[in-house]
Formats: sequence, structure tokens, C-alpha cells
Amino acid sequence: MTVYLGLDIGGTSAKFGLVDESGTVIDRNRFPVKAHQRGADDIIDEAIEQLGSMITRNDAGSDVAGLAIGAAGWILPGQGVVVAAPNLPGWNHVALGPRLSKALDLPVKMENDANLFTLGEWLCGAGQGLNYLAGVTLGTGVGGGLILDGRLYNGPFGTSAEVGHMVVEPNGRKCKCGSYGCLETLASATAMTITGRELLEQGHATSYAGRIEDLTSKVLFDLADQDDPLALEVFNRAGKALGIALTSIFNLLGLEGAVIGGGAGAAFKHMYESMFDEFSKRVFVVDPQKVRIVQSALRDDAPLAGAPALFR
Ligand SMILES: [Zn+2]
Repeated sequence: MTVYLGLDIGGTSAKFGLVDESGTVIDRNRFPVKAHQRGADDIIDEAIEQLGSMITRNDAGSDVAGLAIGAAGWILPGQGVVVAAPNLPGWNHVALGPRLSKALDLPVKMENDANLFTLGEWLCGAGQGLNYLAGVTLGTGVGGGLILDGRLYNGPFGTSAEVGHMVVEPNGRKCKCGSYGCLETLASATAMTITGRELLEQGHATSYAGRIEDLTSKVLFDLADQDDPLALEVFNRAGKALGIALTSIFNLLGLEGAVIGGGAGAAFKHMYESMFDEFSKRVFVVDPQKVRIVQSALRDDAPLAGAPALFR
């Protein structure tokens, strides 16, 4: 049986797994990255060791056809190089792909993590059956991937579909990229925390009685589940920004659907109404009732499930 390894490296943790050709995850694990404390070499050594033991544990040695790596940041997919990654400090021009390929004696393909997420959802998740699809990950930042005509679209420079840096509010918050009012400044988990604290300072109605610095996106998820008005307003605003960004994406490309994931994508149900309201009021080229805009079905498994698609 042919299987693939998937590895998704983020600033907090690295998730990895063994995946069959249909995208089903057979075995999965994770290890803490703590990129602010550990150097790239240390993390890469641990990845080699952990992936090696997963192969041994599953007795999969000769069956593994390749390793697919997803990494956040600016990467060169063809060369397997991380040029720079805001959530992986010190990773400048790191030849991650070639190093893992040599150590594990496997063909390696690398992609932006949001691209790998989109491939996974397209192959066997919420985007299955759609040949024109956008993937959006709402996490520490906001990432994106595009499937066009049944293929991942990379653009001529290997960098495209940076949905997080589409401008939604021209005079909005400053973004890490240098621009203002990018989707990432309005709909990432980081942005949700900022909005929540701003509303708290402004005296917005809420049942939250803790310290302002303890109000995180995770706390906001829990509060929204209890119908807290402040938390619901945070997701209302994030959903609105997402709806505006999706309008531009669909108007530009005439897609069949979009899958929303990432850590903060877990609050999709609280964002859905304002997102869809904004989208259906504004969108021009597609019938909002006929396109599929849904939450990720695979969650953390999505980037791993994308591994076989990367080798097709
Ligand atoms: Zn930006």
C-alpha cells in the first residue's frame, strides 16, 4: 500500500501523520515547536526523529512514497526553502525540504501551509468535488489557497492566494505586511483578541469579568457559545470582513466554493450570518445560494490529508 507522510510546521506546534492515497490519516502526532526558544536546527532534528519513528512504528518503510511539508510564511515550493516566516523566528533561507529529504531518504514536496490545507479539503474534506475552490485559514494570521481547474494555483513566483492581505478597510489597522486594513487585521485569531479588548475598553455589554489581558480568542469562543454580546460582536465584525474578502475573491474568479479553517475557523458558526449577509448583498458574478461556503471538515488533519494530492 502506498502511503505518504505529511508535516505541518507552525509557530506553536508541528503536526505530522501518515496518510493513504485517498487522504485518510492513518496515524498522527505532534510536537511543540516553541520557535521563539528553539533554533531551526533543533526543530528539524526533532522532525527527522519523530517522522522516522512514525515510519518504524507503522512498519511503513518501503511503502512511503514521499513527504509533504506545509510551512507558514514565504517559501519557495520548488526548492523546499523557507525564505522567511514571521511565526518561525530565525528561519531565514532554511533548506527544510532538502534536509528532510536527505535524512529520511524520501522525495519531499513543500507548500505554504494554507495551500496544503486547501488541497486536503479539496481531496477529501468539505471542498470535495469542486474544481474551483478557495481555502481560507483563520489562525494567528490569515492564509489562503486556490484550486483552479482542479489544480493548486501557485502563480509564476510560487506565492499567490495571500487572502489574508487583501485590503478590506483601506484606513484600517496596520498589518504586519506594512499595509493597512488587510483581512488578517480583522479576521485572524490575533485580530479577534484585539477587537474583543477594544470593545471591553469601550464598555460594551458582556458577562466577562476577568482582566483585559486574559481576554483571548479562545475565551471569546467560549463566551460566544454562551451568547455573550461582546463575543458575538467580535465574530460579527470578523464575519463581515470575511464576507467582503470572499466577495472580491468570487467576483474575480467565479469560484464554486470556499472552505474556512484554521484555529479561529472553529468559530465559523458565529461568523456565518454576518459573512453570508455581506457576501450575498455584494457578490455579483455568482448566485450566493448556489456556491458552497463552509467550515473545514478535516480541521487539524486537513494539511496532512493534502499530502497525496501534492504528489499527483
Ligand atoms: Zn497585510
